[in-house]
Amino acid sequence: MTSIAGTIITACGGICRSVADIAVPPLCPLCKAELSCGPRRLCTACEQLLPCLPERRCPGCGGANDSYLDLCRDCLECGGRPWAAAVSAFPFAGQLREAVHAFKYQRQTSLAPFLAGAMADAWRRYGAAPDLIVPVPLHWLREISRGYNQAGLLAQCLGRELRRPAVNALRRRRRTSQQARLHYEERLKNISGAFMVKKPSIIVGKSLLLVDDVFTTGATLSAATTALLAAGAAAVYVITAARD
Ligand SMILES: [Zn+2]
Ligand SMILES: [Zn+2]
Repeated sequence: MTSIAGTIITACGGICRSVADIAVPPLCPLCKAELSCGPRRLCTACEQLLPCLPERRCPGCGGANDSYLDLCRDCLECGGRPWAAAVSAFPFAGQLREAVHAFKYQRQTSLAPFLAGAMADAWRRYGAAPDLIVPVPLHWLREISRGYNQAGLLAQCLGRELRRPAVNALRRRRRTSQQARLHYEERLKNISGAFMVKKPSIIVGKSLLLVDDVFTTGATLSAATTALLAAGAAAVYVITAARD
């Protein structure tokens, strides 16, 4: 049997623990104000500025659903999603948009426990227990230039919250051009076949929770889900910190 020990991201170590150890007294990861009472995740002022998703959400993308149908307009227009269900913690707006930007591009990795905590809360409410947690990988060159994979940090902290192992099951086998300005079909074409499963034996027959920071069109998550299902995953669910 293949050992999965080397592939599992240790849930107890890494960023979650080191952040908790360093932050004494605890600071708000958004504004760096000192937190007065207990190990709270954000200060009261920042918490009040966070945007919320409405109660009625789309199971295709985890975002708000103001249509009369089960799925939102975006999910209907793209012809459905390959995963079983998707959940998001926040809308990609306001203070949260700034937080994700700082987390992703300005090395504010101390935001990972806060974002993953909110994702875990949303998942407990809308999702089902997965066997394994799998981050969307960056291409290794991009990960080296950024210094970390933001989805990997979220998966690690989420694994700790949900008491499930986080596994780097996917690899990005080629670099893809920046997706930001492309439409869904162009993005899908751009990213199609970009992911491969490192050791299929780890994920065969398992239900997986695929983790990314922001859900924009869902093209990247689609390509990753397709690779996981083709390699034998029993089911794939998706969770993101924010729905754009
Ligand atoms: Zn704050
Ligand atoms: Zn949707």
